[in-house]
Amino acid sequence: MTGKILIVEDEPKLAALLADYLQDSAFVTFTLAEGTVVVPWIREHPVDLVLLDIMLPGRDGLEICREIRTFSQVPIIMITARVEEIDRILGLELGADDYICKPFSPREVVARVKAVLRRTRGEQAGPAPDLVLDESRYQARLRGQDLELTAVEFKLLKLLVEAPGRIYGREQIMARIYSDDRFVNDRTVDSHIKKLRKKFQAVEPGADPIHSVYGVGYKFEGLAGNP
Ligand code: CA
Repeated sequence: MTGKILIVEDEPKLAALLADYLQDSAFVTFTLAEGTVVVPWIREHPVDLVLLDIMLPGRDGLEICREIRTFSQVPIIMITARVEEIDRILGLELGADDYICKPFSPREVVARVKAVLRRTRGEQAGPAPDLVLDESRYQARLRGQDLELTAVEFKLLKLLVEAPGRIYGREQIMARIYSDDRFVNDRTVDSHIKKLRKKFQAVEPGADPIHSVYGVGYKFEGLAGNP
């Protein structure tokens, strides 16, 4: 796998280490260390992925991410030293694709870069060709069998399936699947997920494509037999 990666990191040693590992994996890298130059640079130089540190001189990485999303869908992996920022990073307002917590191993970063690129470059057939979603009827069929989902379950499944491997936080899920201001809380999402999983199992014992990510949220992984 190849591609152009922009590293935005103000600690020179860390930036150099990331660049080394990525180059060893055949990526071409560019490095920026100052916040205010990032958006203008990206407008001029299309890249395949951005590794974006949050604490930067000049401009905050969160703000930069938000602005990039106003004109580009380039995959963005945020780098953060603060676990409490994860919800915001993955949230609707920012639209980052993944995050990495400091301290990290450069090997892990390379693995995450490859995973995000694979996901966003899109295996067009999707992660689960045996899962068919019919939006006009809110119907999901697993290998031909109706999962018999409610409208909310259908929307939840669709959200997860459309970005396989992407982790959605509970707040993000709620914002996407409830169009009205009805009272919902974190547990509502958990309970819908539970029901969805049961419905998968009812049609196909052992089918469990929805995974929880501890403390963060949920993601859709492919079905067995569909790597
Ligand atoms: Ca920093």
